[in-house]
Amino acid sequence: MANTFERVRFVLVETSHPGNVGAAARAMKTMGFSDLVLVNPRDADVLTHAEAIALASGATDVLAAARIVHSLDEALAGCNFSVALSARPREFSPPLFEPRQLAEHLVTDTALKAALVFGSERYGLSNEQVSKCSALVSVPANPVYSSLNLAQAVQVIAYECRVAALGEVRSEDTIGFRGERASAEQVEGMFTHLEKALIDIDFLDAKNPKKLMPRLRRLFARAELEVEEVNILRGIATQLISKRQRIRKD
Ligand code: SAH
Repeated sequence: MANTFERVRFVLVETSHPGNVGAAARAMKTMGFSDLVLVNPRDADVLTHAEAIALASGATDVLAAARIVHSLDEALAGCNFSVALSARPREFSPPLFEPRQLAEHLVTDTALKAALVFGSERYGLSNEQVSKCSALVSVPANPVYSSLNLAQAVQVIAYECRVAALGEVRSEDTIGFRGERASAEQVEGMFTHLEKALIDIDFLDAKNPKKLMPRLRRLFARAELEVEEVNILRGIATQLISKRQRIRKD
């Protein structure tokens, strides 16, 4: 499997300042990373914007190779571990990591293909965007003013990942057999299927869903699902739905 630098993607969601995109590219390159994806930047031509190029400095190659996509799901395609970066803790968040713990995890588990997801300057990440991720990471900043500049947040996280990667001379994971990790698309497909089944069996009230799905997302994020496990859950959902249909017919 590829080394840490090739397994970590940086995703910037709805960025408004071209300078921040350039500075983020520079922050990434100085730490050895190059996979940059932008989700709906405010300026569609941001990659060729003069401010972005100026702040990228010697990292214009990272900028030029960056991709622009139109949804977070698209940005997560091909990844099997996604991390929301936020200064704010959330009530129904996926498991919370410190930047250093995250970096260790990314380096140690070489089957991970990770997306690090950063929010917009003005609004950060929405709860829905956070809930799509497998983990939440906060830089433990000054509690009275914890909001870092976007590119500086990228720098801090990229630095931690680099330090962890350089220090890596560890043995593989010790949990024993590990199957292939489920991709973001497979996990999303499973949630859609499971939600439908839960509505079908009247466990989930579509009109008043409360926090069931966010709680289940949190549970499954902790489990770090494998492909086989996603298939089992989908099999259960299929069976629930068809059983319910048979009961309705009788
Ligand atoms: N006004 C926004 C802050 C946006 S800062 C808000 O209230 O959420 C832009 C992005 O930088 C954030 O969405 C987050 O991805 C990252 N960031 C800033 N400070 C951070 C911190 N202390 N820990 C982790 N990420 C942070």
